[in-house]
Amino acid sequence: MFKIPLEDVIAKIKEKAGISEEEINTKIKTKLDQLSGLISKEGAAHIIANELGVKVIEQVSGKLQIKNILPGMRSVETVGKVTQKFDIHEFQKEDRKGKLGSMVIGDETGTIRIVLWQEQADKLNSIKEGDIIKIKDGYSKDNQGKKEVHISEKGTLIINPPDETIGDIKLGTSTRKNIKDLRENDDDAELLGTIVQVFDIRFFEVCPECGKRARPKDDSFECITHNKVTPAYSYVLNVHIDDGTENIRIVCFRNQVEQLLNKTQDKILSYKESPDKFEEIKTELLGNQIKIIGRVSNNTMFNRLEFVCSQVFPSPNPSEEIKRLEENNKGTEENTEQTKTEEPPKPEEPQKEVQEEPKETKDDSSNTPTEEIVEDVVEG
Ligand SMILES: [Zn+2]
Repeated sequence: MFKIPLEDVIAKIKEKAGISEEEINTKIKTKLDQLSGLISKEGAAHIIANELGVKVIEQVSGKLQIKNILPGMRSVETVGKVTQKFDIHEFQKEDRKGKLGSMVIGDETGTIRIVLWQEQADKLNSIKEGDIIKIKDGYSKDNQGKKEVHISEKGTLIINPPDETIGDIKLGTSTRKNIKDLRENDDDAELLGTIVQVFDIRFFEVCPECGKRARPKDDSFECITHNKVTPAYSYVLNVHIDDGTENIRIVCFRNQVEQLLNKTQDKILSYKESPDKFEEIKTELLGNQIKIIGRVSNNTMFNRLEFVCSQVFPSPNPSEEIKRLEENNKGTEENTEQTKTEEPPKPEEPQKEVQEEPKETKDDSSNTPTEEIVEDVVEG
């Protein structure tokens, strides 16, 4: 069945049955007590919804708006506008080759990652940002708390169907933050800052099938799920950004590295053989202003906060930033506190010596991502 977050079920009951959240929680608790722990809190909430005649899922077939797509659905049909497109990745598994590509589409209700497998991935070559995409017979999954729709060869993907339009896209729920206000486990935080330091790209072996870390074993590599594999390579790039309030280490993994550098997988892999070629890229990156969305993670080895990117916008739109400033200025007195934290920081000019000579600090060994972070980066 579909996984609907408890808070969504409660919100639905509140909206449709017109009773308070407190009352709903009491009902859930009573139900849990009655069934003496046989069901989960979510399960109890569904029963309450049924008893009150509230339909938690209003629509399960036909064309769905993005917010109504839930993990675990089969035959997903939806339409959205492409907001981001990623490279196609090829992998080898035993005697067969595989391919996957991904993009993000959005509609008036939200955005979602679309993962295309095998032949479907090739269609990314003829898709550009702003295109309208219609998909049919996809299946939805939960990937670390984020919904995504996968399309295998059985699914259908139509580029710019003639009868579909999409209005203003509701972008994610990310909140603009100042670096100094970041706290461990902040999720969907958005930062705007200037790149002040760039480290070397680190390459590591991954399982070609599932994207998880592959570890050396005997004279080969082993994936915890797929046993002996011929590894593919993934990569991680760390940079420091400064937003005028503080600076923080940003961790970019494969897709995010491609976004940041605006380079293909092949090109990036070529730096593995000739790291010297990456030196000039480093210099080009310094001083650039970027917008990133991600989460804050505590690197326990160094006892410092790091920012793990999920999306990188290497050229933030200036007019969007101005609009944000204007909207924030409209804030009322009571909102002053909030307005203050959401105001885009004025990035300082990167320090000159840093710009000329990006020094690798002593803790550069930590450029190796922590296991936890690497495991987190799993594709698909
Ligand atoms: Zn694997």
